Amino acid sequence: MASASAFIVPDCSSSSTAASRFIPLNKIRIRRVFQINYHPISAVRWGPKSSLLNININNRRLFSSMALTVASNAETIAKVIDGKSVAKHIKEEISTEITRMKEAIGVIPGLAVVLVGDRKDSATYVRNKKKACDDVGIKSYEIHLPEDSTEQEVLKYISEFNDDPSVHGILVQLPLPRHMNEENILSAVSIEKDVDGFHPLNIGRLAMRGREPMFVPCTPKGCIVLLYRYGVTIKGKRAVVIGRSNIVGMPAALLLQREDATVTIVHSRTKNPEEIVRQADIVISAAGQPNMVRGSWIKPGAVIIDVGINPVDDPESPRGYRLVGDVCYEEACQVASAITPVPGGVGPMTIAMLLSNTLSSAKRAHNFE
Ligand code: NDP
Repeated sequence: MASASAFIVPDCSSSSTAASRFIPLNKIRIRRVFQINYHPISAVRWGPKSSLLNININNRRLFSSMALTVASNAETIAKVIDGKSVAKHIKEEISTEITRMKEAIGVIPGLAVVLVGDRKDSATYVRNKKKACDDVGIKSYEIHLPEDSTEQEVLKYISEFNDDPSVHGILVQLPLPRHMNEENILSAVSIEKDVDGFHPLNIGRLAMRGREPMFVPCTPKGCIVLLYRYGVTIKGKRAVVIGRSNIVGMPAALLLQREDATVTIVHSRTKNPEEIVRQADIVISAAGQPNMVRGSWIKPGAVIIDVGINPVDDPESPRGYRLVGDVCYEEACQVASAITPVPGGVGPMTIAMLLSNTLSSAKRAHNFE
């Protein structure tokens, strides 16, 4: 049972996990599993398994001039994995690279976005992607179709973008309206322009040994890039991915496996998830459950990548809510060796990886090194 010296968790009150699972802080021996040294990507040893990331993240030159400082809070133990800052630097590098390509061969990368329906969150995501494209010099094209459009209409636009040489990446904003077959639509995107990496062929290649997908899904790729950027060794480590969705959990697990981690996937039917998570050196959580992962679930010294973005009520916020991750940040900070915040962790990396994939696609299409 928790004693009076158990964690104080003001920010994790929205979790459904019983407080009796807390472990008093004085019972936890903090042992660093990882030495977390933040360094530029050029200093990272990309092993053979990393060639996949290397190809798709762009060449090393793109990342060679990075020099960031790690934000850390004196009152906590974990280092903050600052995705916002890493993403900003990656975007600057992409912008420089786009200028170089434009000057050398006159090509500007193009990204086409297909949005169907009037979901506010989807419209916001598309707006953010368009702005990010503008920031780095990618030309963006947008097709916004009404909710009651037919699948054929969506397929027609995808086909046009497939044939358009000025478009190097095509993104279909999910979720699609219920009457549409997502698989049909995602499969219609040319594998050479599938910058989201959701085409079954790209996912299949990601899963198979000895095969290379043309693109890796952006959010999982952002998670792995963050691990690399912070010098976290993946090879030989025990990793747990919470969530098995097609867009985050499953490809994240495949990527970790390609990087030679021993991977376990936890999902909604997993029994005793805390016991499994507690064995992990690296945790990637993408469950969409606010503050589900408590400090007591975490192996001391583990590295935590929190993908979850969950709104919870907050009367003190002007919006009436705030965003939290899947991991109880305050508790995890006292146990983990490094952790991504929410917001400001994985989120900004997702868009940076989309831009990176689009640039890679344009370079590949024009054979530009
Ligand atoms: P999905 O709802 O598609 O998948 C959630 C997964 O989590 C499922 O596999 C589900 O299991 C599992 N899960 C749900 N509840 C639990 C639980 N209590 N214990 C263990 N596993 C559980 O979500 P997404 O993958 O699309 O997104 C996950 C989170 O990541 C969301 O918060 C989303 O907002 C965020 N996100 C963030 C992005 C970013 O850029 N940072 C990008 C994309 C998503 P089962 O399969 O059994 O149902």
